[in-house]
Amino acid sequence: MSNYDNIKDEMILAASRAYTRGIQTGSGGNFSARVPGKDLMIVKSSGGSFMDANRDNLIVTDFDGTVVEGTGKPTREALLHGYIYKIAPTVGGVMHCHAPWSIGWAYTRKPLDGVTLHTQLKFGCPIHVLDVKTPMVEQKDFPLVKSLFDETPGLPAFLLVDHGIVAVGDTVINAEHNAELVEETAMVAFLKAIAASKLFD
Ligand SMILES: [Zn+2]
Repeated sequence: MSNYDNIKDEMILAASRAYTRGIQTGSGGNFSARVPGKDLMIVKSSGGSFMDANRDNLIVTDFDGTVVEGTGKPTREALLHGYIYKIAPTVGGVMHCHAPWSIGWAYTRKPLDGVTLHTQLKFGCPIHVLDVKTPMVEQKDFPLVKSLFDETPGLPAFLLVDHGIVAVGDTVINAEHNAELVEETAMVAFLKAIAASKLFD
């Protein structure tokens, strides 16, 4: 067992939960975990499904996505993951997935705010939407990400228009839990909008 196997096993569990829960299908999305005490992270390799993640295809890189250990190509969004680890020292895991209710909500460009009592208790802050036009967050848009973390220390997640959720946590497991809660909250937001309409009058 290498030093990283415990972290990799947590990543595999988080990925499996996300896939089973249906917040990521097919081969999209990506996730990572910080290597404690080092400027390194472990990231999903490009391509495969969340269910394909195993100890051999999770790659150790620096925060710029340069491979330090492992074979294969790191996820295309490794730079975003590394950037988050650089600016948010308490973040230990990142879960990015293309969850349908969240993508639907992000189309409104409105923050998910105060939707359920549980979310208010758990997050205590709105989940904001970043309107970036590219299929991955590019370096030119990183200041938008930084401003979210500056405004809300302990930020649990943000949404990307036409794209999905970026959730963070002190561990990759908790990042995945936050992603699940964001998706559930987006679904409830739609249900409340329907309930508040004249549909049932
Ligand atoms: Zn994506």
